[in-house]
Amino acid sequence: MLIVQKFGGSSVANAERVYNVAKRVAETYKKGNDVIVVLSAQGDTTDDLITKAKEISKNPPKREMDMLLATGEQQSVALMAMALSELGYPCVSLNAYQVGMITTSAYSNARLKKIKPDRIRRELDRKNIVLVTGFQGMNRFDDITTLGRGGSDTTAVAIAAALNADQCEIYTDVDGVYTADPRVVKNARKLNEITYSEMLELASLGAKVLHNRSVELAKKYNVELVVRSSLTNAEGTVVKEACKMERMLISGVAGDDEIARVSLIGLKDTPGKAFDIFSTLAKKNVNVDIILQSIGRDNTKDISFTIPDTSLADAKEVIEQNMERWGTKSVDYNENLAKVSIVGAGMVANTGVASKMFEAMYDSDINIHMISTSEIKISILIDKKEMHKAMNAIHEAFNLAD
Ligand code: ASP
Ligand code: MG
Repeated sequence: MLIVQKFGGSSVANAERVYNVAKRVAETYKKGNDVIVVLSAQGDTTDDLITKAKEISKNPPKREMDMLLATGEQQSVALMAMALSELGYPCVSLNAYQVGMITTSAYSNARLKKIKPDRIRRELDRKNIVLVTGFQGMNRFDDITTLGRGGSDTTAVAIAAALNADQCEIYTDVDGVYTADPRVVKNARKLNEITYSEMLELASLGAKVLHNRSVELAKKYNVELVVRSSLTNAEGTVVKEACKMERMLISGVAGDDEIARVSLIGLKDTPGKAFDIFSTLAKKNVNVDIILQSIGRDNTKDISFTIPDTSLADAKEVIEQNMERWGTKSVDYNENLAKVSIVGAGMVANTGVASKMFEAMYDSDINIHMISTSEIKISILIDKKEMHKAMNAIHEAFNLAD
């Protein structure tokens, strides 16, 4: 079998852990498998490198930033190669350039375009364990790029797809995907399996187990993923296209309190208003999530929407510049809100899921400010201070613990 194993930064944080991982990799190799290992930078290395850069410059050139950040992953693969050699296993470390990991040119947020598999194949034929840097790529100018924070997952999936691997294992410091963040919901349960679509919703909802582009890529190329712990032998969670027939209605509850709501009140009720507002915000790269428009009355209407709280400053600037043109009477900003969502492929074919969620909020005396639904997701906006209570109540109402 050809197996891709990806280890996150905490799994290789120090010499002891590097050896732990090396032994794990060796186990797989000894069984006669071809093994490709993708690594992240050790521990807080990437954050530390960012701090270093900021000490030099408030606004460092993006090209140079990528040049700097890519060194973290290069350290990891070299150290891992040393550990494996020490244990007596043939191996080779390779960076994005050597692997031909071609990306778009956007520094700090590049997207993978293709991987030239030749070099990796050659090394596997020589019976080497191949260690590849995660997170980095190279663009058409032959410059180093990076894939965005958490991007090593995406590197691993891309390699698995390009080389048609039999298995892609993502090792991390948790032992799988849970029905809720176990730090918030004490009796959260580990899922044995989850669909790509559900995982995508959960990844973007703030369950930070997998980089969401890695899930997109896995879905596109049908790469079955296993998320498991590098510290234990627990089974982990399989992410794949379809799960068992008799499955739970809901796979998980997620909470996100890093959001803000903006309400534009008393807008002129004329065609093109929503288009104007949201295209102007999009030009400033403000990512809008839930949108709610009120029924028009007296020729005016209100539009409310949520954005990541990190975009609030940009949104305020855009709104102040355009308020008059939009004919807005007043604006209200609220940062004390949280979004709680339930995700489940099973809800498509079942009625009563939404009402059960709302009932749980009613029983807990929690007021819902906004609601948004899709085929496999329902999100509500509530007060930030009630987020944990809401997640627990919903987890309970849907019996997710057992
Ligand atoms: N080292 C990079 C980061 O910290 C990439 C990764 O860990 O996946 O974001
Ligand atoms: Mg990660």
